[in-house]
Amino acid sequence: MFNKLTIQTRRLYVQLAAAAVTNSYFLAPYLKHLPCPSLNCYACPLAAFACPIGSLQHFAIVGAVPFLLLGILFLAGALVGRWACGYLCPFGLFQDLLARIRRPKLALPSWLGWGRYLSLFGVAIIVPMLTGEPWFSKLCPAGTLEAGIPYVVAGFFKLKLPGQPAQIFAMIGPLFYLKLALTAGIIAAAVFIKRPFCRFICPLGAIFGVFNRVSLLRITLDHGKFSDKADCRKVCPVDLDITKDAGSAKCVRCMQCVKCPGVSQRFG
Ligand code: SF4
Ligand code: SF4
Repeated sequence: MFNKLTIQTRRLYVQLAAAAVTNSYFLAPYLKHLPCPSLNCYACPLAAFACPIGSLQHFAIVGAVPFLLLGILFLAGALVGRWACGYLCPFGLFQDLLARIRRPKLALPSWLGWGRYLSLFGVAIIVPMLTGEPWFSKLCPAGTLEAGIPYVVAGFFKLKLPGQPAQIFAMIGPLFYLKLALTAGIIAAAVFIKRPFCRFICPLGAIFGVFNRVSLLRITLDHGKFSDKADCRKVCPVDLDITKDAGSAKCVRCMQCVKCPGVSQRFG
């Protein structure tokens, strides 16, 4: 039955399962020290894994090399490139669901993708090194949705979630409102722009993207078979025309375009 489903539906099932596993609270005692290959907030009451970008900032602050983190990211990247963005990341899934809201989607210039490298080197490495604070995590919309808002709502109803800070209301201030505004902006943008956070902001996507050109999982093109290039871009969750560059760092390897003539996937 699973084989008869469209790639998009199969991918949705995998994404939902991955989001559930990543937030399986009962696994946290065994796995919370391990970074997962997706953007999932460590502070989320249900999180079973560490956030790779949170870990990266921690090591930047203490001035140490994150060998385990780099090993996990390099292994995942070398095997499948940015596939985790297409199939495993809960925040990627969240944006895909927002994109299903029927509104015209805007095409934005591709140079905005450099924002991912600014986030990675600027906000997630250099700023934490200089300030001693994990500024990407402080502003991260995934963290606001998975931890900040649930903790405040639980506090309002006098509930206590795992890991909830004792003085939760004392933490509500200008930074919290800034996070809310940024998160609301990303959510609104994701209705009109396909995966804006993944394409223009996410530092983890920047890391995985560099492996797309060399990973074992790759897309191959047969230029002689191309017929309707526009359709390839239409099915793409990141609004990419893969026929121009099969190794593009922007591709999240969802493989929805392999049904286009001339586009296929290969492993090895
Ligand atoms: S780029 Fe998107 S899918 Fe990939 S890790 Fe970041 S938020 Fe998740
Ligand atoms: S180019 Fe193809 S494989 Fe890459 S994200 Fe777009 S549809 Fe998915």
